[in-house]
Amino acid sequence: MNTHTLSCADSHARRPRAIVIGGSLGGLFAGNMLRHVGWDVDIYERSAGDLDSRGGGIVLQPDVVEVFRRIGVDIGATALGVRSAHRTVLNPDGTIRIKRRAPQTQTSWSLIYTTLKSSFGLGHYHQGKVLSHVEQDEGARTVTAIFEDGSRETGDLLVGADGGNSTVRRQFWPDQLPAYAGYLAWRGLVPEASMPESTREALHGDFGFASNTGSHILGYLVPGENNNVWPGHRFYNWVWYRVAAPEMLAGAMTDREGKRRAYSVPEGMLATVWIQHLREEATALLPPAFRHVVQVTREPFVQAIRDLAVDRMTAGRVVILGDAASIPRPHTAASTLKAAANALALADALQAHPDDIDGALAQWEPGQVAFGKHLMRQGIEAGKVLLFHHP
Ligand SMILES: Cc1cc2nc3c(=O)[nH]c(=O)nc-3n(C[C@H](O)[C@H](O)[C@H](O)COP(=O)(O)OP(=O)(O)OC[C@H]3O[C@@H](n4cnc5c(N)ncnc54)[C@H](O)[C@@H]3O)c2cc1C
Repeated sequence: MNTHTLSCADSHARRPRAIVIGGSLGGLFAGNMLRHVGWDVDIYERSAGDLDSRGGGIVLQPDVVEVFRRIGVDIGATALGVRSAHRTVLNPDGTIRIKRRAPQTQTSWSLIYTTLKSSFGLGHYHQGKVLSHVEQDEGARTVTAIFEDGSRETGDLLVGADGGNSTVRRQFWPDQLPAYAGYLAWRGLVPEASMPESTREALHGDFGFASNTGSHILGYLVPGENNNVWPGHRFYNWVWYRVAAPEMLAGAMTDREGKRRAYSVPEGMLATVWIQHLREEATALLPPAFRHVVQVTREPFVQAIRDLAVDRMTAGRVVILGDAASIPRPHTAASTLKAAANALALADALQAHPDDIDGALAQWEPGQVAFGKHLMRQGIEAGKVLLFHHP
């Protein structure tokens, strides 16, 4: 048997290996799905501990449910979220402008994260691993991740699921950067049990909205601590978009320890002056029920709204997906959906071309790029109407 035959036999016997950078939702969707279609997968996440979010709200989208279904999460037995029946728009004085039936399910970031992580398991989920850069061997068709601790991992495919400030994207497409959209999303979670009766009556059980000049707020119930979906144990989740000039952005992104953050300040780190600012603005701009939930929120947090949709998502054996590749504005409710959709399509393409990884990537990329651009346009249009009144 000659060397060529040996290497072919080897490559047929060996399962292909994927190295996934980033262990948040994008990395976990990809990791679970690639393993499901027969790949060996290792996920490398820079944070040393569990990623944590008390359960910031997310609308449960069909692609997320589809990943759960394919990787064998018992959907019937898992309460995936909290149902709402209506969409209600309030006037600034609190009267109802529109109320229409629109049933949907709201879930939380933590519920999706813990479900995906427990399905993937800890054996191949490596924490405290910070990607430094990537090297490719075009001849051998391999790709190597080099980490800041000096270690190296080689595989057949590297998936950059390392978020909006992606190291992988900066190496391969340095000119593709997120752009600030001109407004912020202040956010918060309030234990349902602490909402007074009048606020519950106005907001409880619905997907609520209210607009004012340069101001758009929405809120809904999501699972509570430990993913609890029982009435009385859930959180009310609110998101308040406010127009903010770049100087205000810089101020809001400076946390309570004086550290300047890139585009978000998590719970517990927002400077006191901004909590006070929010409470004052709530009095001026929000209908009574929303005003109340904002003012009783103990630890609001904030993120800058940014736009990104890359032109390319593959370079040789490197791909990027999730927020690394495109950041649709939250009005589209599509960030998590898009990360799930990217991963589902990647797994489908690789399964359809088991002996031709390059062919699979070539088939996968154009639709995903187009999807990212479509969502970005949709988000920009919604933002114009909701925040800048330029229909
Ligand atoms: C802790 C946390 C809480 C969140 N909570 C919410 C929420 O409540 N609601 C909501 O809508 N969205 C939330 N998001 C964002 C949401 O996960 C994304 O918008 C979307 O799901 C796409 O996820 P992603 O995995 O592509 O990107 P991200 O969620 O941004 O994940 C990127 C991951 O890559 C890791 N990483 C970055 N650089 C490196 C590197 N060099 N080496 C190794 N790892 C690296 C990061 O630590 C992070 O875990 C949250 C994200 C995080 C990390």
